[in-house]
Amino acid sequence: MKPSIHRGPRSVQEEKSAKSPDNGQAVGCRVSGKCGGCRYSAVEYGKQLEKKQSYIRELLKDFGETEPIRGMEQPEHYRCKVHHVFGRTKKGEVLHGSYQAGTHRIIPSEDCLLEDQQCREIISSIHKLLRSFKIRIYDEDSGTGLLRHVMVRKGCFSGEFLVVLVLADQVFPGKNNFVKALTSLHPEITTIVLNINPKDTSMVLGKVNKTIYGPGFIRDSLCGRTFRISPASFYQVNPAQTEVLYETAIGLAELKGTETVIDAYCGIGTIGLCVASRAEKVIGIELNADAVKDAILNCKENQVNNYRVYQGDAGEFMEAMADAGEKADVVFMDPPRNGSTQQFMDAVDRLHPGKLVYISCGPEALKRDLEYLESMDYRVKTIIPVDMFPYTEHTEVVCCLERQTIEDRRRQL
Ligand code: SAH
Repeated sequence: MKPSIHRGPRSVQEEKSAKSPDNGQAVGCRVSGKCGGCRYSAVEYGKQLEKKQSYIRELLKDFGETEPIRGMEQPEHYRCKVHHVFGRTKKGEVLHGSYQAGTHRIIPSEDCLLEDQQCREIISSIHKLLRSFKIRIYDEDSGTGLLRHVMVRKGCFSGEFLVVLVLADQVFPGKNNFVKALTSLHPEITTIVLNINPKDTSMVLGKVNKTIYGPGFIRDSLCGRTFRISPASFYQVNPAQTEVLYETAIGLAELKGTETVIDAYCGIGTIGLCVASRAEKVIGIELNADAVKDAILNCKENQVNNYRVYQGDAGEFMEAMADAGEKADVVFMDPPRNGSTQQFMDAVDRLHPGKLVYISCGPEALKRDLEYLESMDYRVKTIIPVDMFPYTEHTEVVCCLERQTIEDRRRQL
Protein backbone atom coordinates (compact mmCIF):
# COMPACT_ATOMS: atom_id res chain seq x y z
CA MET A 1 0.00 0.00 0.00
CA LYS A 2 2.44 2.59 -1.15
CA PRO A 3 0.91 6.02 -1.67
CA SER A 4 1.47 7.80 -4.92
CA ILE A 5 2.73 11.28 -4.32
CA HIS A 6 2.94 14.38 -6.36
CA ARG A 7 5.76 16.79 -5.91
CA GLY A 8 4.48 20.31 -5.73
CA PRO A 9 1.15 22.08 -5.86
CA ARG A 10 -1.51 20.85 -8.28
CA SER A 11 -2.33 22.64 -11.48
CA VAL A 12 -5.11 25.26 -11.74
CA GLN A 13 -7.22 22.76 -13.74
CA GLU A 14 -7.07 20.26 -10.92
CA GLU A 15 -7.97 22.94 -8.40
CA LYS A 16 -11.14 23.85 -10.28
CA SER A 17 -12.38 20.28 -10.25
CA ALA A 18 -11.66 19.77 -6.56
CA LYS A 19 -14.62 19.37 -4.22
CA SER A 20 -14.01 22.06 -1.59
CA PRO A 21 -13.76 25.66 -2.75
CA ASP A 22 -11.46 28.12 -0.99
CA ASN A 23 -14.35 30.35 0.08
CA GLY A 24 -13.74 30.37 3.81
CA GLN A 25 -16.67 28.01 4.47
CA ALA A 26 -15.93 24.87 6.41
CA VAL A 27 -17.50 22.54 3.85
CA GLY A 28 -15.35 19.58 4.75
CA CYS A 29 -16.24 19.41 8.43
CA ARG A 30 -19.19 20.85 10.32
CA VAL A 31 -17.30 21.30 13.59
CA SER A 32 -13.96 22.51 12.28
CA GLY A 33 -14.56 26.03 13.62
CA LYS A 34 -14.97 24.67 17.17
CA CYS A 35 -12.56 21.75 17.12
CA GLY A 36 -9.65 23.66 15.58
CA GLY A 37 -8.03 20.41 14.45
CA CYS A 38 -8.14 21.16 10.73
CA ARG A 39 -7.92 24.88 10.09
CA TYR A 40 -7.75 24.23 6.33
CA SER A 41 -10.85 22.05 6.05
CA ALA A 42 -12.44 24.59 3.70
CA VAL A 43 -9.35 24.98 1.55
CA GLU A 44 -8.83 22.86 -1.55
CA TYR A 45 -5.77 20.64 -1.15
CA GLY A 46 -3.70 22.20 -3.94
CA LYS A 47 -4.25 25.60 -2.29
CA GLN A 48 -3.24 24.20 1.11
CA LEU A 49 0.04 23.09 -0.40
CA GLU A 50 0.57 26.50 -1.97
CA LYS A 51 -0.09 28.22 1.38
CA LYS A 52 2.37 25.96 3.18
CA GLN A 53 4.95 26.34 0.44
CA SER A 54 4.81 30.13 0.53
CA TYR A 55 4.85 30.22 4.35
CA ILE A 56 8.02 28.13 4.52
CA ARG A 57 9.63 29.97 1.59
CA GLU A 58 9.07 33.31 3.30
CA LEU A 59 10.04 32.08 6.79
CA LEU A 60 13.29 30.48 5.66
CA LYS A 61 14.20 32.82 2.78
CA ASP A 62 17.47 33.90 4.42
CA PHE A 63 18.74 30.32 4.23
CA GLY A 64 18.12 29.74 0.52
CA GLU A 65 15.44 28.51 -1.89
CA THR A 66 12.69 26.19 -0.68
CA GLU A 67 12.07 23.22 -2.97
CA PRO A 68 8.47 22.26 -3.90
CA ILE A 69 6.48 20.75 -1.05
CA ARG A 70 5.91 17.00 -1.21
CA GLY A 71 2.18 16.44 -0.80
CA MET A 72 -0.23 13.50 -0.79
CA GLU A 73 -2.40 12.14 -3.58
CA GLN A 74 -5.14 11.06 -1.10
CA PRO A 75 -4.92 13.59 1.71
CA GLU A 76 -8.03 12.59 3.73
CA HIS A 77 -8.25 10.26 6.75
CA TYR A 78 -4.50 9.87 7.07
CA ARG A 79 -4.34 9.98 10.88
CA CYS A 80 -3.69 6.40 11.95
CA LYS A 81 -3.70 7.31 15.63
CA VAL A 82 -7.10 8.47 16.82
CA HIS A 83 -7.61 9.71 20.35
CA HIS A 84 -11.03 10.61 21.74
CA VAL A 85 -11.89 11.93 25.16
CA PHE A 86 -15.15 10.65 26.70
CA GLY A 87 -17.52 12.82 28.70
CA ARG A 88 -21.18 13.76 29.12
CA THR A 89 -23.34 16.53 27.73
CA LYS A 90 -25.27 18.78 30.15
CA LYS A 91 -28.24 16.46 29.59
CA GLY A 92 -26.13 13.50 30.71
CA GLU A 93 -25.66 11.84 27.31
CA VAL A 94 -22.29 10.22 26.68
CA LEU A 95 -20.21 11.88 23.97
CA HIS A 96 -16.68 11.50 22.66
CA GLY A 97 -14.42 13.58 20.48
CA SER A 98 -11.65 16.15 20.79
CA TYR A 99 -11.20 18.95 23.26
CA GLN A 100 -11.99 22.36 21.83
CA ALA A 101 -8.61 24.11 21.47
CA GLY A 102 -7.51 25.54 24.83
CA THR A 103 -10.58 24.25 26.75
CA HIS A 104 -11.96 21.09 28.33
CA ARG A 105 -15.12 21.26 26.22
CA ILE A 106 -15.58 18.09 24.16
CA ILE A 107 -16.42 18.56 20.49
CA PRO A 108 -17.89 15.40 18.96
CA SER A 109 -15.84 14.80 15.82
CA GLU A 110 -18.58 13.63 13.50
CA ASP A 111 -17.12 13.16 10.07
CA CYS A 112 -13.52 13.94 10.75
CA LEU A 113 -11.47 14.58 7.59
CA LEU A 114 -8.24 13.63 9.29
CA GLU A 115 -8.98 10.51 11.30
CA ASP A 116 -8.75 6.98 9.96
CA GLN A 117 -12.28 5.63 9.58
CA GLN A 118 -11.60 2.14 10.93
CA CYS A 119 -10.13 3.65 14.10
CA ARG A 120 -13.23 5.82 14.44
CA GLU A 121 -15.54 2.82 14.00
CA ILE A 122 -13.79 1.00 16.84
CA ILE A 123 -14.26 4.02 19.11
CA SER A 124 -17.97 4.21 18.15
CA SER A 125 -18.39 0.52 19.01
CA ILE A 126 -16.78 1.11 22.41
CA HIS A 127 -19.27 3.93 22.95
CA LYS A 128 -22.16 1.58 22.11
CA LEU A 129 -20.88 -1.15 24.46
CA LEU A 130 -20.57 1.15 27.49
CA ARG A 131 -24.19 0.89 28.57
CA SER A 132 -24.46 -2.91 28.49
CA PHE A 133 -21.20 -3.25 30.44
CA LYS A 134 -22.22 -0.51 32.89
CA ILE A 135 -18.96 1.34 32.31
CA ARG A 136 -19.18 4.77 33.86
CA ILE A 137 -17.66 7.80 32.21
CA TYR A 138 -15.08 9.67 34.26
CA ASP A 139 -16.26 13.02 35.54
CA GLU A 140 -13.47 15.58 35.77
CA ASP A 141 -15.24 17.73 38.36
CA SER A 142 -16.14 15.05 40.88
CA GLY A 143 -13.22 12.71 40.04
CA THR A 144 -15.64 9.73 39.84
CA GLY A 145 -16.27 7.20 37.04
CA LEU A 146 -13.94 4.98 35.03
CA LEU A 147 -13.41 5.64 31.31
CA ARG A 148 -11.47 8.80 30.40
CA HIS A 149 -10.07 8.38 26.89
CA VAL A 150 -9.78 5.85 24.09
CA MET A 151 -6.78 5.77 21.79
CA VAL A 152 -6.72 3.53 18.72
CA ARG A 153 -3.64 3.10 16.59
CA LYS A 154 -3.66 1.30 13.26
CA GLY A 155 -0.61 -0.23 11.67
CA CYS A 156 -1.38 1.08 8.19
CA PHE A 157 0.86 -1.38 6.42
CA SER A 158 0.34 -4.35 8.80
CA GLY A 159 -3.41 -3.91 9.40
CA GLU A 160 -2.89 -4.48 13.16
CA PHE A 161 -4.91 -2.40 15.66
CA LEU A 162 -3.99 -1.32 19.19
CA VAL A 163 -6.78 -0.12 21.49
CA VAL A 164 -5.83 1.77 24.65
CA LEU A 165 -8.58 2.38 27.22
CA VAL A 166 -7.47 5.11 29.60
CA LEU A 167 -9.15 4.45 32.95
CA ALA A 168 -9.20 6.31 36.24
CA ASP A 169 -8.96 3.03 38.17
CA GLN A 170 -7.33 -0.41 37.91
CA VAL A 171 -10.65 -2.15 38.62
CA PHE A 172 -12.57 -2.84 35.41
CA PRO A 173 -15.48 -5.18 36.24
CA GLY A 174 -16.44 -7.48 33.36
CA LYS A 175 -13.34 -6.71 31.34
CA ASN A 176 -13.01 -10.24 29.87
CA ASN A 177 -16.53 -10.12 28.48
CA PHE A 178 -15.92 -6.60 27.24
CA VAL A 179 -12.83 -7.82 25.35
CA LYS A 180 -14.86 -10.67 23.85
CA ALA A 181 -17.65 -8.35 22.75
CA LEU A 182 -15.30 -5.75 21.24
CA THR A 183 -13.06 -8.21 19.42
CA SER A 184 -16.03 -10.09 17.98
CA LEU A 185 -17.32 -6.81 16.57
CA HIS A 186 -13.79 -5.90 15.38
CA PRO A 187 -11.65 -8.98 14.72
CA GLU A 188 -9.05 -6.61 13.25
CA ILE A 189 -8.11 -5.56 16.82
CA THR A 190 -4.86 -7.35 17.70
CA THR A 191 -4.23 -5.94 21.17
CA ILE A 192 -6.02 -4.07 23.97
CA VAL A 193 -4.22 -2.25 26.77
CA LEU A 194 -5.62 -0.61 29.89
CA ASN A 195 -3.77 2.54 30.79
CA ILE A 196 -4.36 3.67 34.35
CA ASN A 197 -4.46 7.41 34.85
CA PRO A 198 -6.00 8.32 38.23
CA LYS A 199 -4.48 11.81 38.26
CA ASP A 200 -6.21 15.14 37.81
CA THR A 201 -3.99 16.05 34.86
CA SER A 202 -4.13 17.18 31.26
CA MET A 203 -1.77 14.34 30.29
CA VAL A 204 -3.77 11.67 28.48
CA LEU A 205 -1.72 8.62 29.45
CA GLY A 206 -0.84 7.53 32.97
CA LYS A 207 2.31 5.57 33.81
CA VAL A 208 0.80 2.08 34.27
CA ASN A 209 -0.19 -0.13 31.31
CA LYS A 210 -1.95 -3.50 31.69
CA THR A 211 -2.32 -5.62 28.58
CA ILE A 212 -5.66 -7.45 28.58
CA TYR A 213 -5.62 -8.84 25.03
CA GLY A 214 -2.82 -9.65 22.59
CA PRO A 215 0.85 -8.70 22.94
CA GLY A 216 0.47 -5.09 24.21
CA PHE A 217 1.93 -3.50 21.07
CA ILE A 218 1.36 -3.51 17.31
CA ARG A 219 3.77 -3.87 14.45
CA ASP A 220 3.97 -1.77 11.34
CA SER A 221 6.44 -1.48 8.51
CA LEU A 222 8.10 1.44 6.82
CA CYS A 223 10.79 1.53 4.12
CA GLY A 224 11.07 -2.28 4.21
CA ARG A 225 11.63 -2.51 7.99
CA THR A 226 9.23 -3.77 10.67
CA PHE A 227 8.62 -1.86 13.89
CA ARG A 228 6.91 -2.68 17.14
CA ILE A 229 5.04 0.26 18.63
CA SER A 230 4.04 0.42 22.32
CA PRO A 231 1.21 2.64 23.61
CA ALA A 232 3.49 5.44 24.90
CA SER A 233 6.02 5.43 22.05
CA PHE A 234 6.07 8.15 19.42
CA TYR A 235 5.21 6.97 15.92
CA GLN A 236 4.35 9.33 13.08
CA VAL A 237 0.56 9.66 12.70
CA ASN A 238 0.69 9.69 8.88
CA PRO A 239 2.64 6.54 7.98
CA ALA A 240 2.12 6.91 4.22
CA GLN A 241 3.87 10.29 4.21
CA THR A 242 6.45 9.08 6.72
CA GLU A 243 8.02 7.01 3.95
CA VAL A 244 8.20 10.15 1.81
CA LEU A 245 9.70 12.06 4.73
CA TYR A 246 12.33 9.44 5.51
CA GLU A 247 13.24 8.86 1.86
CA THR A 248 13.68 12.62 1.47
CA ALA A 249 15.85 12.90 4.60
CA ILE A 250 17.92 9.79 3.92
CA GLY A 251 18.42 10.77 0.26
CA LEU A 252 19.89 14.12 1.34
CA ALA A 253 22.48 12.37 3.54
CA GLU A 254 24.02 10.66 0.44
CA LEU A 255 25.46 7.85 2.53
CA LYS A 256 28.22 5.70 1.09
CA GLY A 257 28.26 2.92 3.68
CA THR A 258 31.38 4.02 5.57
CA GLU A 259 29.83 6.63 7.84
CA THR A 260 29.18 6.89 11.57
CA VAL A 261 25.63 8.21 11.74
CA ILE A 262 23.78 9.68 14.72
CA ASP A 263 19.98 9.34 14.88
CA ALA A 264 19.07 11.95 17.49
CA TYR A 265 15.56 12.08 18.98
CA CYS A 266 15.15 8.63 17.47
CA GLY A 267 11.81 7.45 18.93
CA ILE A 268 11.43 3.72 18.24
CA GLY A 269 14.46 3.82 15.94
CA THR A 270 12.67 4.23 12.62
CA ILE A 271 15.20 6.49 10.88
CA GLY A 272 18.24 4.65 12.28
CA LEU A 273 16.89 1.28 11.17
CA CYS A 274 16.13 2.63 7.71
CA VAL A 275 19.71 3.94 7.26
CA ALA A 276 21.61 1.13 9.02
CA SER A 277 22.31 -0.87 5.85
CA ARG A 278 23.80 2.25 4.22
CA ALA A 279 26.18 3.19 7.06
CA GLU A 280 29.09 1.70 8.98
CA LYS A 281 27.33 2.24 12.30
CA VAL A 282 24.38 4.15 13.70
CA ILE A 283 23.95 5.59 17.21
CA GLY A 284 20.44 6.47 18.42
CA ILE A 285 19.51 8.66 21.37
CA GLU A 286 16.01 9.04 22.79
CA LEU A 287 14.51 10.28 26.08
CA ASN A 288 11.41 8.06 26.33
CA ALA A 289 12.31 4.73 27.96
CA ASP A 290 9.42 2.80 26.33
CA ALA A 291 10.47 4.00 22.89
CA VAL A 292 14.09 3.01 23.58
CA LYS A 293 12.94 -0.47 24.57
CA ASP A 294 10.96 -0.70 21.31
CA ALA A 295 13.99 0.55 19.34
CA ILE A 296 16.30 -2.09 20.85
CA LEU A 297 13.80 -4.87 20.11
CA ASN A 298 13.29 -3.45 16.62
CA CYS A 299 17.04 -3.84 15.95
CA LYS A 300 16.81 -7.51 16.95
CA GLU A 301 13.67 -8.19 14.94
CA ASN A 302 15.18 -6.61 11.82
CA GLN A 303 18.51 -8.36 12.44
CA VAL A 304 20.32 -5.04 12.45
CA ASN A 305 23.61 -5.28 14.35
CA ASN A 306 25.21 -1.91 13.67
CA TYR A 307 22.66 0.34 15.42
CA ARG A 308 22.96 1.06 19.17
CA VAL A 309 20.24 3.02 20.94
CA TYR A 310 20.76 4.89 24.22
CA GLN A 311 18.28 6.43 26.62
CA GLY A 312 18.76 10.01 27.79
CA ASP A 313 18.65 13.66 26.86
CA ALA A 314 20.01 14.15 23.36
CA GLY A 315 21.98 17.32 24.28
CA GLU A 316 23.69 15.71 27.26
CA PHE A 317 24.45 12.57 25.29
CA MET A 318 26.00 14.45 22.39
CA GLU A 319 28.06 16.58 24.78
CA ALA A 320 29.37 13.44 26.49
CA MET A 321 30.28 11.99 23.06
CA ALA A 322 32.15 15.17 22.14
CA ASP A 323 33.93 15.20 25.55
CA ALA A 324 35.07 11.64 24.84
CA GLY A 325 36.64 12.87 21.60
CA GLU A 326 34.25 10.95 19.34
CA LYS A 327 33.40 12.04 15.80
CA ALA A 328 30.35 11.56 13.55
CA ASP A 329 29.97 11.85 9.78
CA VAL A 330 26.23 12.47 9.53
CA VAL A 331 23.72 13.57 12.16
CA PHE A 332 19.97 13.15 11.69
CA MET A 333 18.06 15.27 14.18
CA ASP A 334 14.28 15.07 14.58
CA PRO A 335 13.43 17.03 17.74
CA PRO A 336 9.93 17.80 19.09
CA ARG A 337 8.06 20.90 17.88
CA ASN A 338 10.00 23.31 20.11
CA GLY A 339 13.25 22.38 18.43
CA SER A 340 16.69 21.50 19.71
CA THR A 341 18.98 23.05 22.34
CA GLN A 342 22.20 25.04 22.22
CA GLN A 343 23.86 22.27 24.21
CA PHE A 344 22.94 19.82 21.43
CA MET A 345 24.07 22.09 18.61
CA ASP A 346 27.35 23.06 20.34
CA ALA A 347 28.07 19.35 20.69
CA VAL A 348 27.23 18.78 16.99
CA ASP A 349 29.86 21.39 16.13
CA ARG A 350 32.44 19.51 18.19
CA LEU A 351 31.48 16.12 16.73
CA HIS A 352 32.23 17.65 13.33
CA PRO A 353 29.74 15.86 11.05
CA GLY A 354 30.07 16.85 7.37
CA LYS A 355 26.28 16.68 7.05
CA LEU A 356 23.39 17.46 9.29
CA VAL A 357 19.86 16.47 8.28
CA TYR A 358 17.32 18.36 10.37
CA ILE A 359 13.71 17.11 10.31
CA SER A 360 11.37 19.61 11.89
CA CYS A 361 7.68 19.72 12.74
CA GLY A 362 8.07 23.25 14.17
CA PRO A 363 9.28 25.60 11.42
CA GLU A 364 9.67 28.62 13.72
CA ALA A 365 11.95 26.69 16.08
CA LEU A 366 13.75 25.34 13.01
CA LYS A 367 14.47 28.91 11.88
CA ARG A 368 15.93 29.75 15.30
CA ASP A 369 18.10 26.61 15.26
CA LEU A 370 19.28 27.19 11.66
CA GLU A 371 20.40 30.69 12.66
CA TYR A 372 22.42 29.18 15.47
CA LEU A 373 23.92 26.45 13.29
CA GLU A 374 24.85 29.02 10.61
CA SER A 375 26.60 31.08 13.30
CA MET A 376 28.92 28.08 13.48
CA ASP A 377 30.40 26.32 10.47
CA TYR A 378 27.16 24.90 9.01
CA ARG A 379 25.42 26.19 5.90
CA VAL A 380 21.90 25.26 4.77
CA LYS A 381 22.03 23.53 1.36
CA THR A 382 18.52 22.18 0.88
CA ILE A 383 15.06 22.95 2.28
CA ILE A 384 12.18 20.60 1.42
CA PRO A 385 8.72 20.85 3.06
CA VAL A 386 6.78 17.58 3.35
CA ASP A 387 3.05 17.67 4.01
CA MET A 388 2.61 15.28 6.94
CA PHE A 389 -0.59 16.94 8.19
CA PRO A 390 -3.04 17.81 5.37
CA TYR A 391 -6.01 20.04 6.32
CA THR A 392 -4.03 21.47 9.25
CA GLU A 393 -1.68 24.44 9.16
CA HIS A 394 1.29 22.34 10.30
CA THR A 395 4.18 21.69 7.96
CA GLU A 396 7.12 19.37 8.34
CA VAL A 397 10.42 20.55 6.85
CA VAL A 398 13.58 18.64 6.01
CA CYS A 399 16.80 20.68 5.84
CA CYS A 400 20.23 19.51 4.88
CA LEU A 401 23.20 21.47 6.23
CA GLU A 402 26.82 20.95 5.28
CA ARG A 403 29.93 21.83 7.22
CA GLN A 404 32.05 24.42 5.51
CA THR A 405 35.57 23.35 4.65
CA ILE A 406 38.59 25.64 5.03
CA GLU A 407 38.49 26.17 1.23
CA ASP A 408 34.81 27.20 1.44
CA ARG A 409 35.73 29.78 4.05
CA ARG A 410 38.74 31.05 2.07
CA ARG A 411 36.54 31.46 -1.00
CA GLN A 412 34.19 33.68 0.98
CA LEU A 413 36.98 36.02 2.13
N1 SAH B 1 12.61 10.25 14.83
C1 SAH B 1 11.44 9.64 15.42
C2 SAH B 1 10.82 10.44 16.57
C3 SAH B 1 10.63 11.92 16.34
S1 SAH B 1 9.58 12.72 17.52
C4 SAH B 1 10.40 9.34 14.36
O1 SAH B 1 10.48 9.80 13.23
O2 SAH B 1 9.46 8.59 14.67
C5 SAH B 1 10.68 13.39 18.65
C6 SAH B 1 11.22 12.39 19.64
O3 SAH B 1 12.12 13.11 20.51
C7 SAH B 1 10.18 11.73 20.56
O4 SAH B 1 10.33 10.32 20.48
C8 SAH B 1 10.53 12.24 21.97
O5 SAH B 1 10.30 11.28 22.98
C9 SAH B 1 12.00 12.55 21.81
N2 SAH B 1 12.58 13.55 22.74
C10 SAH B 1 11.96 14.64 23.28
N3 SAH B 1 12.83 15.35 24.00
C11 SAH B 1 14.03 14.71 23.95
C12 SAH B 1 15.32 14.95 24.50
N4 SAH B 1 15.55 16.02 25.26
N5 SAH B 1 16.32 14.08 24.22
C13 SAH B 1 16.09 13.00 23.45
N6 SAH B 1 14.88 12.71 22.89
C14 SAH B 1 13.87 13.55 23.13
